[in-house]
Amino acid sequence: MSDCLFCRIVNREIPSTPVYETDKVYAFLDIEPEAPVHVLIVPKQHISSHNALTEDNVDVMKDIHLAVNEIVKKLGISDSGYRLINNCGPDSGQTVFHLHYHLVGGKSLGTKIL
Ligand code: AMP
Ligand code: ZN
Repeated sequence: MSDCLFCRIVNREIPSTPVYETDKVYAFLDIEPEAPVHVLIVPKQHISSHNALTEDNVDVMKDIHLAVNEIVKKLGISDSGYRLINNCGPDSGQTVFHLHYHLVGGKSLGTKIL
C-alpha cells in the first residue's frame, strides 16, 4: 500500500525510531508521545484495522502480542506495568488505517481507561 503511512514506515521510505522488529512485526516510537514510553506496534503486512482481522491473521497477531512482552522487558516496564491500546474506527479517533497498537507506560496511568 504505497499511500499508507505505516506501510511506508515499515518499508523504511519514511524514517522512524525502531524499537523491535521480527519478520512479521515492526515497533517504533510514536512521533507525538503521550507517555514516557509510547511505542507503536504494527504488522508488516497491511491490515486496515482491528475490524479487518480474520483467521488468516492469527500468526501475526500472536507475534504482535509476544512482541509486546519482549518490548516491555527491553524498555524495563514489564514489572511497573503498561497499557496496550487499539483505536478502531471513527469513534475511537483512529487516524492511521494500518492496524497498530499503542504501548504506553513509564508512569502511573491511573485506574480509568479514558
Ligand atoms: P491512531 O490515532 O490510533 O490512528 O494513532 C496514530 C498514531 O500515529 C498517533 O499517535 C501519531 O502520533 C502517530 N504517528 C503519526 N505519524 C507518525 C510517524 N511518522 N511516526 C511515528 N508515529 C506517527
Ligand atoms: Zn499499511
